[in-house]
Amino acid sequence: MKIHSPRTQLIWLTTLMVITTLAACCQVRQPQPQSTPYNDEPIWENAAIVPVFVDLTRKIPGLMTDVRYATNQNFTRQILYDSATPYLVAPAADSLVAVQNELKRMGLQVVVFDGYRPLSVQKKMWAVYPDSRFVANPANGSRHNRGCAIDLTLADSLGHLLEMPTDYDDFTEKAGASFMDLPSVAIQNRALLKQVMERHGFIGLGSEWWHFDFQGWQNYPLSDIPVEPGD
Ligand SMILES: [Zn+2]
Repeated sequence: MKIHSPRTQLIWLTTLMVITTLAACCQVRQPQPQSTPYNDEPIWENAAIVPVFVDLTRKIPGLMTDVRYATNQNFTRQILYDSATPYLVAPAADSLVAVQNELKRMGLQVVVFDGYRPLSVQKKMWAVYPDSRFVANPANGSRHNRGCAIDLTLADSLGHLLEMPTDYDDFTEKAGASFMDLPSVAIQNRALLKQVMERHGFIGLGSEWWHFDFQGWQNYPLSDIPVEPGD
């Protein structure tokens, strides 16, 4: 083995330090994983599927909608959406078609309050109502932000709303899926909605009778793509 002089060793040591410093600088400049504005969780974590959002009004001709987040008639008193068109990811939209077809055979139909919701809208909702029983914390995101949740109720074939336990976005215990101090017809209608939705791949939520998640929602990313007017 060759032994270097102290001067040569100093040159080697300095060169090594320069290389190490440069490597550290380059590492800092490497692109960082995309993260949400709210925490350090990557937006695309666990998201195996690139979502295709489907316009439900095109998928289901004549679909009744009441998207109050496109008006100021909602719990935030702000217009949150530029468009009143509800969207879901494609497989969830297909399942909603099956729900509607089954209901039509009973002389009924769905009325959609909400579907896909951009993550930035979730942040506005949370700022107004930071109660995770009724509004998902944007730090974790809502299943609506994945295009995999729908809020809806039932109407008859003429469009008359069926009696339900509460109005939409009633943030009280009466909205709970198992709240029973209600007229029997409201309990029956709530049960019918849940049964039909669950037969077609949707899962009910304990605190809101109108909210259903689409199974496999974990495979879709949180999205913040805005829904534009005319989309
Ligand atoms: Zn919902």
